[in-house]
Amino acid sequence: MALPKRKTSKSRRDKRRTHDRLKAVNVVECPRCHSKKISHRVCANCGYYAEHEIIIFEDKGKKKEKKEKKEKKEPEKASKEK
Ligand SMILES: [Zn+2]
Repeated sequence: MALPKRKTSKSRRDKRRTHDRLKAVNVVECPRCHSKKISHRVCANCGYYAEHEIIIFEDKGKKKEKKEKKEKKEPEKASKEK
C-alpha cells in the first residue's frame, strides 16, 4: 500500500481546506408573491417559476404538478417537499 513519505503540515492541510467552506444560498424575492425564495427555483409559496404555474396547490399539504410542454429545469427540492 502506498504511504505518504512525510506528514502533512498544518499549513498544507489548512491550505487544502480553504475551498471546503459552504456558500450561502442566494435568496431572492418572488416577483409574484414577494416571499423569499431561492433564485432559479420554483417558488414554494405560489408554485410559479417565471410566469409559468409549475406546482398547483390544492389545499394544505397536497399539491399536484402540472406537466407543461417546455418544462424548465424544475428543482428536485420542490417535488420532494411535503
Ligand atoms: Zn411566489
